Amino acid sequence: MALKERRKAAVVDVGGVKVGGGHPIVVQSMTNTDTADTTATVNQVIALARAGSELVRVTVNTEEAAAAVPRIAATLEAFGLRVPLIGDFHFNGHILLRKYPECARALAKYRINPGNVNIGRKHDENFRTMIEAAIEYGRPVRIGVNWGSLDQALLARLMDENSRRAEPLSSSQVMHEAIVASALESAAAAERYGLPHDRIILSAKMSGVQDLIDVYRDLAARCDYPLHLGLTEAGLGSKGIVATTAALSVLLQEGIGDTIRASLTPLPDGDRTEEVTVCQQILQALGLRSFTPQVTACPGCGRTTSTFFQEMAAQIESYLREKMPVWKQTFPGVEEMKVAVMGCVVNGPGESKHSNIGISLPGTFEEPVAPVYVDGRLARTLRGGAIVAEFIGILEDYVGRRYGTR
Ligand code: SF4
Repeated sequence: MALKERRKAAVVDVGGVKVGGGHPIVVQSMTNTDTADTTATVNQVIALARAGSELVRVTVNTEEAAAAVPRIAATLEAFGLRVPLIGDFHFNGHILLRKYPECARALAKYRINPGNVNIGRKHDENFRTMIEAAIEYGRPVRIGVNWGSLDQALLARLMDENSRRAEPLSSSQVMHEAIVASALESAAAAERYGLPHDRIILSAKMSGVQDLIDVYRDLAARCDYPLHLGLTEAGLGSKGIVATTAALSVLLQEGIGDTIRASLTPLPDGDRTEEVTVCQQILQALGLRSFTPQVTACPGCGRTTSTFFQEMAAQIESYLREKMPVWKQTFPGVEEMKVAVMGCVVNGPGESKHSNIGISLPGTFEEPVAPVYVDGRLARTLRGGAIVAEFIGILEDYVGRRYGTR
């Protein structure tokens, strides 16, 4: 199925980053530090932003966290880092946003979970207070429904209505409808309280891939608010990455989604920036955005003689990532470059010809030479112990010639 045209969504400005409309799909992430720990949070925001996160969310769960937010924003500013900060509020956001106006000002957007701000019950002052803060400080909100904290009053109402139907829906259909209705009814309430239509982003996160796809398809068809995609509680390691990729790719392929986050569970002391890389890789693999030159490497097989080929592919990939912060300033367009690092001449030259630059290492029983192709033509044949360094030299020369004169 070809990539569908992007769904037409309203445009929401989040601290200068445009979300929705035809704007590029925004990559975002969330810290896992204690927000009250200013140093740790600043360091992690910097790491996430440098990895490419265009928005960074921090939890604002306590008075100490709310008090720390302006300090975090000021420190980031002092470091020259201008990444919009989003405040994630639950239960007490109405208190914190009122009691800590500097926190409310320092944040570029507020995330409100309608499942825990008493919307849907008879009195929804807490939700209204947060919306009024957003109006007062000119900030957008994300109404972020999560099935783990779904508005229980709304769910009970829909269950009750369903029981009176001639042909009742299944409980999972009612759950899906409750999630979508929670997002849409909360957005309608926010607009009733005075928040402009173009200051609302919606999300409706679930942890099951098929559930998530169903819910977002429905949400996309029923409104034009920009949609924040994410599979909640995606999990550890390859499971989390694969499940996130599966869910988000289906929706993005259908033109649904304006900003994405990968909710991966990092290993203890793991690298939080992985969630940024995963988002970038999803968007780049689908051809929706380009962030860094892509390395095509074959999986290797019995024809590869040693681990040299894997090591070389890894070295080239990390070399490209290290170079990108500088290259993207000086060599615009370099992020679209394709590099092939192949294990032998079976598919190596062919794959190299489809890339901007490619190398095929010698496989078992092959002559110990490594042909290098540039723009589809055999340019050099490398041999000996300095293949990696020489290939990087050819690569740098190519980047300078191809992208340096734009
Ligand atoms: S290109 Fe060569 S080494 Fe790589 S998987 Fe194919 S046959 Fe094996």
